[in-house]
Amino acid sequence: MFVDTILASAESKGSRSGIIFTSYAACPAVHACLLPTHLPMSPANRSAPLLAALATAMLLPATRVLSQPATVPAQHPAVQAALTTLERENSWTLDQQITLCEIPAPPFKEAARGVYFRQQLMALGLEKVRVDGEGNVIGELRGSGTGPTVVLSGHLDTVFPEGTDVKVTRDGTMLRGPGIGDDCRGLAATLAVTRALTQNAVPIAGRLLVIGTVGEEGPGNLRGVRALFTGPMRDSIDYFISVDGTGIAITNGAVGSARYRFTVIGPGGHSYGAFGLVNPIHAVGRAIAAIGDLQVPETPRTTFSVGIITGGTSVNTISADASFDLDMRSESLASLQELDARVQTVVAKAVADEQARWPKSRGQLTLKVDTIGLRPAGKTPDSAHIVRVAQAAADALRLYAPLNASSTDANFPISLGIPAITVDGGGVGRAAHSLEESYDDRTDGYKGPQWILLLVSGLVGVRGR
Ligand SMILES: [Zn+2]
Repeated sequence: MFVDTILASAESKGSRSGIIFTSYAACPAVHACLLPTHLPMSPANRSAPLLAALATAMLLPATRVLSQPATVPAQHPAVQAALTTLERENSWTLDQQITLCEIPAPPFKEAARGVYFRQQLMALGLEKVRVDGEGNVIGELRGSGTGPTVVLSGHLDTVFPEGTDVKVTRDGTMLRGPGIGDDCRGLAATLAVTRALTQNAVPIAGRLLVIGTVGEEGPGNLRGVRALFTGPMRDSIDYFISVDGTGIAITNGAVGSARYRFTVIGPGGHSYGAFGLVNPIHAVGRAIAAIGDLQVPETPRTTFSVGIITGGTSVNTISADASFDLDMRSESLASLQELDARVQTVVAKAVADEQARWPKSRGQLTLKVDTIGLRPAGKTPDSAHIVRVAQAAADALRLYAPLNASSTDANFPISLGIPAITVDGGGVGRAAHSLEESYDDRTDGYKGPQWILLLVSGLVGVRGR
């Protein structure tokens, strides 16, 4: 579990109604807690420029971005050759997908898969292949230096714990195995696109950074992209693309999330002999009931769910502690912040009510709030250059690429105002995040990598067309 270091260190204690409140409720910037400025790796003193960037990202006028032509070099001979490579050597892509998937990559344990990914980047002839301090694997494809820097990435981690059987079974075009789509498809597509570019010597103008990121899934809390965009390269990245999932769609909306573990601690005692003591499990029950009654907007879609409850010693013990984990999400930063604030209020009130219920209790309740994850919400505008180039690339291949919103690696750059999208890697996926996960390449899975190659070419620029 990831515990927010800033919030943990910022814990302060105050007493209200005889209850000791700890941490989040006393945070000096409660409503800013979901902003990237308040995330663990961002220096606190950079809030003003980052807030401005976030506002800019959400309000960018369409007239400004429409001034850039959104075209893809589909007729360029080297690009056409690269597209042909992707179709003709589709089996290479699928072999990579299987090989990557059979290397376990639990949260925080992506290193082995990262080693393989790194070897592939080196074999493809990329420059400056390296692993950064967080574990991201990075390689560079340099062009003539006259174009932008574009990141093409997939995420190395899976949701599956250590010991999960990750063997892939293959039946024709159907591949089955945990992680085969999410995100082995994205990693394989990323490698295939890179290979097609290098093999056909596509003369790119800008610089392509090919990256396998760590920590995309829940427990990782986007630690890979946070490191990327708070590290030395943060100001040099012009466009960010994550290839994540299957099908053909453009994710330009970033669903934000806030996840907490609420723990109520009391003195504990015998259920009969110590009757009259405050009861942490009862407090948690009150809190969850209050959360369950909260109303949230349907638009922008805003959700909440208590996913785990723990606590208790035995049936005849007043427990000394109880806790629950809460997941909240929204397409809108404002809605997420509002829900977050209401949740903090009702949980604190539930603990206060439990304390007030037992005025003769010889002990007090303490509420502790640990942050499990905070992902900023936001949106790359539909009219942004990166979105329109992705659509132009789909048009060139006669593919339909709808726009949608999700929670991916792109959330973090989007929150910083950096043009970022997540795109699917083609094929048909089912049952992501389950042991029954499958990927079907059917007859046209290669069109996913082809689409991504055109998108990358359109953004990074190709000389001589
Ligand atoms: Zn994924």
